[in-house]
Amino acid sequence: MFFRKFLAGFIQLFYPRTCAVCHSDLMVGEEVMCLTCLYALPLTRFWNQKDNPVAKVFWGRVPVENACAYFLFAKGSKYRPLLHMLKYKGRRDIGVELGRQFGLVLKSSELYHGVDYVIPVPLHKRKLKIRGYNQAQAIAEGICQTLGAELSINHLIRTEFTETQTRKTRAERVQNVAQAFSVVNSDDFTGKHLLIVDDVVTTGATLEACAAKLIEAANCKVSVGALAYASS
Ligand SMILES: [Zn+2]
Repeated sequence: MFFRKFLAGFIQLFYPRTCAVCHSDLMVGEEVMCLTCLYALPLTRFWNQKDNPVAKVFWGRVPVENACAYFLFAKGSKYRPLLHMLKYKGRRDIGVELGRQFGLVLKSSELYHGVDYVIPVPLHKRKLKIRGYNQAQAIAEGICQTLGAELSINHLIRTEFTETQTRKTRAERVQNVAQAFSVVNSDDFTGKHLLIVDDVVTTGATLEACAAKLIEAANCKVSVGALAYASS
């Protein structure tokens, strides 16, 4: 730990690290964002509420146990670059670090006590090749570190490439993604509480498809956690 901090300070001499949001220099101990930006992050606090806007996305569609997001993601938000960099600029570390923060608040909530497995929404192989990593997995890894749950990347599998979702209606999206996932070794999930993780929840179509597959495959409880909630 000491060595890691020492090394971080040392590296900083040569590569000044800057806040991903306001671009001010990061101090030792600050990761991804400066403390000012971190404290101003518009947190949802949905993790303490059973009924919240993210949970409502799934009502009447799939019986998820609990659902929440870490922060609100509005159009024109100064935090927009965080998700953009995570997804398209190789900043996997943003996912891990925000996942760690998210895991801390989940741990503080009774609703997420006893989560056994954290499952990132899988990325198709072709996209994985282009991006180099699955941003949802980066977030899930961070959550596992602070929540104290096990990461699962080998149970929920993406089987088909889905075309872009942007011009589709919600029903079309669900239809489109429903067949894209399958579950293997589902016995591991018997009696377990699973948390499916993605970067952003908007219509929830992808998360809904994943949750439905898992519930169909095993006698388990499924909750959903997204890093950001973008109200549509
Ligand atoms: Zn900042």
